[in-house]
Amino acid sequence: MRFSLLAVLLLVISQTFTHAADPPAKYVLVIGVDGLRPDALQKATTPNFDKLSRNGATSYTCQILGTRYKKNDTISGPGWSSFLTGVWADKHGVHDNSFKGKKFGEYPHFFARVKSQFPTYKTAHFVDWAPIDDHVVSHADFHNGYKAHQPSDLGAKDKAIAADASKLIADKDYRVIVAYFGNCDSAGHGKGFHPSVPTYISAIEAVDGHIGTLLTAIASRTNYKQEDWLILLSADHGGKGTGHSSGHNVPEILTTPFIVSGNNVKRGPIKEQVYVVDIPTTALHHLGVDIAADWKLDGKVIGLR
Ligand SMILES: [Zn+2]
Repeated sequence: MRFSLLAVLLLVISQTFTHAADPPAKYVLVIGVDGLRPDALQKATTPNFDKLSRNGATSYTCQILGTRYKKNDTISGPGWSSFLTGVWADKHGVHDNSFKGKKFGEYPHFFARVKSQFPTYKTAHFVDWAPIDDHVVSHADFHNGYKAHQPSDLGAKDKAIAADASKLIADKDYRVIVAYFGNCDSAGHGKGFHPSVPTYISAIEAVDGHIGTLLTAIASRTNYKQEDWLILLSADHGGKGTGHSSGHNVPEILTTPFIVSGNNVKRGPIKEQVYVVDIPTTALHHLGVDIAADWKLDGKVIGLR
């Protein structure tokens, strides 16, 4: 009798210590804002972008083209291909919005790298510029390209993405989520990519609201205090005037913001040069994925302790 009581006590103690030693479960949210200029972001009123920055590290000089290769156009197809695969266009093969020459078999969306080592980790991708969903997204347990959404304007679609992604984050257990917002680019093409353009600033402030919705969903999770969330944010290009094509020598087009936010991030400005291809590498490292040399990723890990 005494022995069994002791055994129960030992079991309780060992379980307590096992739990105390468990590292927190890792999660990643990647936010992509099409056509977001850093100077306009800094001009806009954005409490939720600011919250991410305060709880992390920020660069306002991220580059959308690398030093080794820069022959692709400075538009969304190649931009998001680099952002989501972590390699430059000589590898992923996308040079314009036709996606001709794509090599996503060899250089897939970073979800494929997560799944190769953690096949049970669930992945979700929300995007309202349909070619990304059609061409780039793979290895997603849930994905939506918002082609049939009504109303069909990008502002309404962005709002739907914020609502849908937030519900999935709050109610389900997805480890890696990408939420893309397209309306800033649409506002820039319509009225101009510039901090002085009210329509462009309003579009950025709307995305700020969507980020707030996503952050509320994360914090509402039952086990949030035992989880380690990393949030990454950047863009595929900026813009000048009402466009951004052929911007190879135009800083306003080549430069985007880059935020890495979470409890495991060194706070403050990022001093080193960052690139959009650093997004997947940083996400994979946070999740504990061993990055294999033969994946030939062009990015590096940014901001993590
Ligand atoms: Zn774009």
